[in-house]
Amino acid sequence: MLDYVSLEDDLTEEEQMIRDTARQFVEENVKPDIGDHFEEGTFPTELIPEMGELGFYAPNLEGYGSPNVSETAYGLLMQELEACDSGLRSMASVQGALVMYPIHAFGSDEQKDEWLPDLGMGEAVGCFGLTEPQHGSNPSGMETRAEAADGGYVLNGSKTWITNSPIADVAVVWARDKTSDGNPVRGFLVETERDGVTTNKITEKLSLRASITGEIGLNDAFVPEENVLPGVSGMKGPLSCLTQARFGIAWGAVGAARDCFETARDYATERDQFGGPIARFQMQQQKLAEMATQITTSQLLAHRLAELKERGDLRPQHVSMAKRNNVRMARDQSRVAREILGGNGITTDYSPMRHMANMETVYTYEGTHDIHTLILGEDLTGIAAYE
Ligand code: FAD
Repeated sequence: MLDYVSLEDDLTEEEQMIRDTARQFVEENVKPDIGDHFEEGTFPTELIPEMGELGFYAPNLEGYGSPNVSETAYGLLMQELEACDSGLRSMASVQGALVMYPIHAFGSDEQKDEWLPDLGMGEAVGCFGLTEPQHGSNPSGMETRAEAADGGYVLNGSKTWITNSPIADVAVVWARDKTSDGNPVRGFLVETERDGVTTNKITEKLSLRASITGEIGLNDAFVPEENVLPGVSGMKGPLSCLTQARFGIAWGAVGAARDCFETARDYATERDQFGGPIARFQMQQQKLAEMATQITTSQLLAHRLAELKERGDLRPQHVSMAKRNNVRMARDQSRVAREILGGNGITTDYSPMRHMANMETVYTYEGTHDIHTLILGEDLTGIAAYE
């Protein structure tokens, strides 16, 4: 596997073990069928508990059965999962960074006891409801509202593009609390079986097909007071979750690009045209050289991010730079890999075009490329240019 400047020489034993466990799991259990899942628009849901047993959901958290592994180990895990498919990494990202993380960081002891062990083991599935039909890049404009009622809150509104909502047991729903001064955004743990909650599936996707995406409809859905995340108020709640998930994406995208590179290199050395392998042509070598260089520089950025996170110096803007760069890189390079595979490259028999299609989602979700550009622009100049 491409590791051109030997970054993996510095991994600890635990990090190597987590990387190898994920690699083996993917090779044996997911890769053989992932093309079929992509074509059919399905996710291998039977693997959700197995992924839990292997510790794939938020292993970087502390307590409640989480082993508290290093941030590099967590990143490597995301890299190996996304080297298979972005849908697989999305499953782990949502469950770990977007559902377990906020419960861990902002939940009550009762909420942690109730949800973290089950979510960690993949015995329960969670989803994260922030995006709305009219509020994507600007989630602070959200219209979903919570009104105080006897013993709890009544929720109304709709969320869309929610990974795993149709198969989720619980949704972390972000809504404006209409009863508090200033209507702050609060997080609500909404069991999807509650009256007034619907989770329709979105079926028309041409990207991230091996992942289940849906809506969350909230129509006078009551949740008791104890389902409110007590430890956070305001946009800091959802945004801090996104920083966790984007960190994993910055790593994961490198995995997708690496898989494209490996597939293209193998193909180029095996495919003969004009009396020999196409890898002997300078044009193909130029593509492989550029791909390897782009992947290597993205790997360096991901590894540095983990070091900064480990010592508490990681800023959300650092994560924006890495998510923005590494996903763009994977989006561009998956296309180059597809080219090298010629006609075969457009089939699900090979991974590059599947990765290429997936990257359209990854480029867009968790803050679009443009939004991360604006975050960096503001950080570098002190001038916000969102509006
Ligand atoms: P818009 O915000 O309407 O943006 C449209 C275009 O305008 C983009 O190119 C954008 O960059 C650009 N734009 C917007 N504002 C500006 C600006 N100020 N300056 C310049 N350009 C701008 N959300 C969740 O909450 N939970 C999930 O689990 C989840 N999973 C997803 C899974 C999939 C498969 C997809 C496709 C999306 C998912 N999302 C999820 C939603 C995702 O986060 C949003 O799609 C994303 O935030 C962009 O919002 P939007 O699609 O409404 O695009």
